[in-house]
Amino acid sequence: MSGWFEETLHPDIGQRFRMERVLYRDRTGLQDLVIFENRVLGRVMALDGVIQTAEGDEFIYHEMLAHVPILAHGRVRRVLIVGGGDGGMLRRCLEHPSVERVTMVEIDRGVVDLSREYLPSISAGAFDDPRTELVIADGCRYVAETADRSDGDRFDVVIVDSTDPHGPGAVLFTSAFYADCKRCLAPGGVLVTQNGVPFLQPDELTQTWRRRKALFADSSFFMAPVPSYYGGFMAFGWASDDEGLRALAAADIAPRMAAAGLRPRYYTPEIHAGSFALPQYVLSLMA
Ligand code: SAM
Repeated sequence: MSGWFEETLHPDIGQRFRMERVLYRDRTGLQDLVIFENRVLGRVMALDGVIQTAEGDEFIYHEMLAHVPILAHGRVRRVLIVGGGDGGMLRRCLEHPSVERVTMVEIDRGVVDLSREYLPSISAGAFDDPRTELVIADGCRYVAETADRSDGDRFDVVIVDSTDPHGPGAVLFTSAFYADCKRCLAPGGVLVTQNGVPFLQPDELTQTWRRRKALFADSSFFMAPVPSYYGGFMAFGWASDDEGLRALAAADIAPRMAAAGLRPRYYTPEIHAGSFALPQYVLSLMA
């Protein structure tokens, strides 16, 4: 079966992809999931009408959201991923030899199972790594319960690799969730989040920035262009009580990247440092 997949994220503007072949289309129980093949992007996954990941450009998104906080922190042993069912974020976190355990809390087992079956190149074996702990649960509930327990895990980096703020992902954009993430961070830890494309989702950026600014000593964004997320540069949220981490120069990051033995396709130490430079239209959204 072929045809076009039309994304339904924005009411007045959008993008479409030719589906050379539909590999899977059904409800997982929680979300409408479709996986199809496209000549430009390879295999593509969409949830509830919104593109989630594509073989062709997933490396940009996943490298940035994993390597930037992990290398800025410099001594990461424990990582929490909220969402991230395709496994691409898990794989990039596990590329860091200092990482002893990655806990991934995904609400929809169907996304994990179908990604393993139809998109194995994205996780590249990460689900079988002994350092992986996969929890099928609502990430919002998980962080609240973990934070409440005095013996609960504390993480050096928390990565929110979520859907947009609709459906099950909506709770991952609330002040209560950010406050619980903060309580789950070890001292000096960093929270990073998928924060949409600010040219088309300006309110999301302003709202999340205000919420995190009230909680963390340092709250900002870093950016990268991900072709399958339409509308220009994508924003990644950054929040930490260590104000120095965001100011590191490429020269500070380069030896850490070399020591980790990373071979990224998008990320470089220069891009790391430069990605925190924000265009004026984004700075204005934070005014
Ligand atoms: N890179 C993607 C993007 O920017 O659109 C995100 C991809 S990842 C597949 C998003 C995942 O978040 C989905 O698998 C979805 O099931 C999961 N998710 C949504 N709400 C969640 C929640 N409350 N707790 C845990 N995972 C959630």
